[in-house]
Amino acid sequence: MDRLAEDGWEAVFVGGCVRDLVLGRAVRDVDVATAAPPEEVLKRFQSAVPTGLPFGTVTVLVGAVPVEVTTYRREGPYRDLRRPGHVVFTSRLEEDLARRDFTINAMALDASWNLIDPFGGLRDAAARRIAAVGDPRARLAEDALRTIRALRLAAELSFDLDGDTRSALYDSVPKLNHIASERIFQEWKRLVCGDVGRVAGDLVDSGFLAWWTGLAGISRESVRRWAEVCRRTAPSAPGRTAALFRLVGAGREWVRKAVVRWRADRGFQRAVEWWWEIGQWDPSAAPPAEWATQLFRIGKGRAKEAVLFCAALRGYGPEELRRCLDRLAEAERVQPLWTEKELAVPPPELCLAAGLSPGPEWGRFYRRVTAAVLEGRVANTPEALYEFARWYAGAVRDGREEGT
Ligand code: ATP
Ligand code: MG
Repeated sequence: MDRLAEDGWEAVFVGGCVRDLVLGRAVRDVDVATAAPPEEVLKRFQSAVPTGLPFGTVTVLVGAVPVEVTTYRREGPYRDLRRPGHVVFTSRLEEDLARRDFTINAMALDASWNLIDPFGGLRDAAARRIAAVGDPRARLAEDALRTIRALRLAAELSFDLDGDTRSALYDSVPKLNHIASERIFQEWKRLVCGDVGRVAGDLVDSGFLAWWTGLAGISRESVRRWAEVCRRTAPSAPGRTAALFRLVGAGREWVRKAVVRWRADRGFQRAVEWWWEIGQWDPSAAPPAEWATQLFRIGKGRAKEAVLFCAALRGYGPEELRRCLDRLAEAERVQPLWTEKELAVPPPELCLAAGLSPGPEWGRFYRRVTAAVLEGRVANTPEALYEFARWYAGAVRDGREEGT
């Protein structure tokens, strides 16, 4: 900023970093806005890379920290409720701040630490309130992504929505149909990791949740229970998403379709289905053999998170939860097997020794032998495993393999 100032170009911190500084939160990334046109910025810094030239953005390395430097701009008229048709550079900071979404995101800080706050961002930060810059109805109508950004920010910061912004938001939910799912999904992931209870009512009343999940009849009561589950579980986007589907009784196919519609990445898809599956379990009622099988499925190191998840879904009280965690500690202590690799003899060797023909038969045997060890029917020793393999091969030959 000093270097730009030497040549008479104004430059200030803007956006999320100013907001987070004002709120005493950790700053994620630093954005700078300047009156200098992008060519001028590019000229002055060796490390400058034109990362978004049509929008006036140049990335400059300050030490090892990439800083986005964007020329002050006004936005041209919006096309299709999406991105502006074109941007117009300006030399006036206030015009740049006026195009921003919410007052708390429309503050700037200069190099002498003066706050430039023409829209009352500081006041709204103190009141813990999300309010649109300018006329909420017009601002949310011109870019519908702001509807979900408002909810995400409210959840993330534990803020309330300003009244006019809230009613404008309710009206603009149908316009989200014009926004790419990927962009909404990015906001969704952050929303569910925040204070879901804070926005639970708005998620239902605005119609957003029904539209986004496809769960048309979703009620305030289910969402209140979901918020309670979120409060009791770690901030995992796939976990909390799966919890919502579980609570309303949505089946696996439903979950899969919703997540594909969101254009979520494969990792997220798999994780949601995994959590959905785990959420079926009622650990409190489970006998020891079931604990072993479930812990094997969950995997070492995630067991406590998974048990807390199931407990939250079923609304265990403090007593039941304590008993359950005691049982978890005991089950972990005596767990016979965490992965197939821990079998005393590698499964392929057992198959070869028993003369099972390679192919699907091997896979069936792997499942059978791990189940037998987990349920305590066969000890995890070479002798017991070889004996089991011989018995199994005999059963297959006699056509009794579907037996015990
Ligand atoms: P974080 O980086 O913590 O998510 P942020 O506020 O920096 O928060 P970005 O998405 O990086 O969020 O956006 C940077 C700034 O750009 C915002 O603070 C806001 O001023 C502005 N902005 C972002 N998206 C929009 C939008 N859809 N409409 C208007 N202004 C926006
Ligand atoms: Mg940012």
